[in-house]
Amino acid sequence: MSDSTEKKGAVECYKELGLLLSDPPPEVEKAFNKLKRDYAKAKRSDDPETRNSAIEKLQHLEEMYTTITFSIAYKDSARQYEKRQEEERIARQKKLEEENSTKVICPNCGKISPASFNVCIFCSKSIKTSLLDKLMFWK
Ligand SMILES: [Zn+2]
Repeated sequence: MSDSTEKKGAVECYKELGLLLSDPPPEVEKAFNKLKRDYAKAKRSDDPETRNSAIEKLQHLEEMYTTITFSIAYKDSARQYEKRQEEERIARQKKLEEENSTKVICPNCGKISPASFNVCIFCSKSIKTSLLDKLMFWK
């Protein structure tokens, strides 16, 4: 158990990368890529010691990344992240639909105005239209 090459647990890997267990995949990716870039740069150093250390660190980093992406915490946060993305997408779409259904073209100036105002916000003329007009316009 005291073997220094023993693989670290996912929790330790998250900690070492400065991540929270709840961080979504893009955050994990970002932390991983940043370190990877740093080590890749060190790998091109003129100093052999720096190069060797960078190679080791890079290998360690890859191992940590594998451990993280195979962990339950990662899979959970990935699932939650996708769910949130989907919820946001639906909310955006709903908002857009609501906005569209409450807008009318002003018969006077031809600009698009919110139907809830009853008068055009541009020319102040009445924009009361029948539901049929709205439906015809937005179809
Ligand atoms: Zn108008």
